[in-house]
Amino acid sequence: MTTRITILGSTGSIGRSTLDVVQHYPGRFDVVALAAHSNVDLLAQQIRAFHPAYVAVADEQAAARLKAMKLGVEVLAGIESLNEAAAIPVDITLCAIVGAAGLRPVVSAIDAGNRIAVANKEPLVMAGRLIMERARRRGVEVLPVDSEHNAIFQCLHGHNVSDVFRVHLTASGGPFYGTPRESLRDVPPEQAVKHPTWNMGAKISVDSATLMNKGLEVLEAMWLFDLPLEKIDVVIHPQSIVHSLVEFMDGSILAHLGVTDMKFPILFALTWPERVESAMGRLDLTRMRELTFAAPDFSEFPCLALALHAARLGGTAPAILNAANETAVAAFCAKRIGFLQISEVVEEALMNCDAGQDVDLDTVFAADAHARRKASETMIALGV
Ligand code: NAD
Ligand code: MG
Repeated sequence: MTTRITILGSTGSIGRSTLDVVQHYPGRFDVVALAAHSNVDLLAQQIRAFHPAYVAVADEQAAARLKAMKLGVEVLAGIESLNEAAAIPVDITLCAIVGAAGLRPVVSAIDAGNRIAVANKEPLVMAGRLIMERARRRGVEVLPVDSEHNAIFQCLHGHNVSDVFRVHLTASGGPFYGTPRESLRDVPPEQAVKHPTWNMGAKISVDSATLMNKGLEVLEAMWLFDLPLEKIDVVIHPQSIVHSLVEFMDGSILAHLGVTDMKFPILFALTWPERVESAMGRLDLTRMRELTFAAPDFSEFPCLALALHAARLGGTAPAILNAANETAVAAFCAKRIGFLQISEVVEEALMNCDAGQDVDLDTVFAADAHARRKASETMIALGV
């Protein structure tokens, strides 16, 4: 039986890894639709290799260029086309757009009744309660692709969430773990995106360097597994072999170990509840030298502390945090602000935007827009 899939964000790191997985299992998957922002050359290669029926391109000019290539695929153009692509009936929609841009497509997939595999954590951070409620009402399964959440999902299987004492989210610590904060003032984006253990897109790589990524993942875990903040712990594990752990009431801890490669959680999500033979290598336990675990230092990584603060505030605070962070990371990547200013911009937004109730998506988008304005104002005040 073939599994029909749509990949939102097919030109990104997760999108490309997903197509690698598809290629490893000939005949098992049928790629129905691809969606991306504007990388026409890569989309054209993907169309030739995987023959989707539809391709959605957010950027109108890029869509026009792709149409002109006449590749025998229906090209959908513009921002709305991502929602259209997400709503095409398939067995699973893999959500791998980066940032808040993925929120409407995720909702659109749910409303269409498509099972979703979610790598795109920002929508869950912004509107996790609304997304999970909507999925429950529509009877849609939400499968986590983020490696830590995929690990927790696997460890929780067959157990009651009420028996969980706490979960331990592992963090590699990023490229600057152990480096004194003051010496990071002038690090260029090229250095911040060089992750020691994972190969990822630019935004999540910077988030990993600030540890904001782990903060976003705490919020992601709260919604995915319906856990209170107090039951989620972050632990630094530089080897990135243990992808996360679940500690139960009786003191037992179940851990998930695996190769440091996103193709594994992607394969798991695409084939769940089956388990298929790995065509992508295995973890050799005898080659592991050591597995270490340490508590994070919040003063070294203020972004992690800010994310936990937003989680405590609740309502639209996580959406404010996320929007300010996206704005600040984009400015850092464009060399407009320094690495240490990312947390300053986020803190200003979080402390100066009123977090209201997350009553509906419109409220969340309004909070997002407000926080982006606030973040831009802060950067102007910082002289950039
Ligand atoms: P990436 O930057 O490599 O790719 C992003 C994809 O989103 C691209 O296909 C791009 O075309 C598309 N995109 C970006 N902006 C868009 C817009 N406005 N409209 C439509 N499409 C748009 O990012 P990535 O590293 O693949 O990460 C994707 C998501 O998965 C992120 O939310 C990230 O946090 C999450 N994630 C990634 C990894 C990883 O290893 N890369 C691991 C866990 C979670
Ligand atoms: Mg992760």
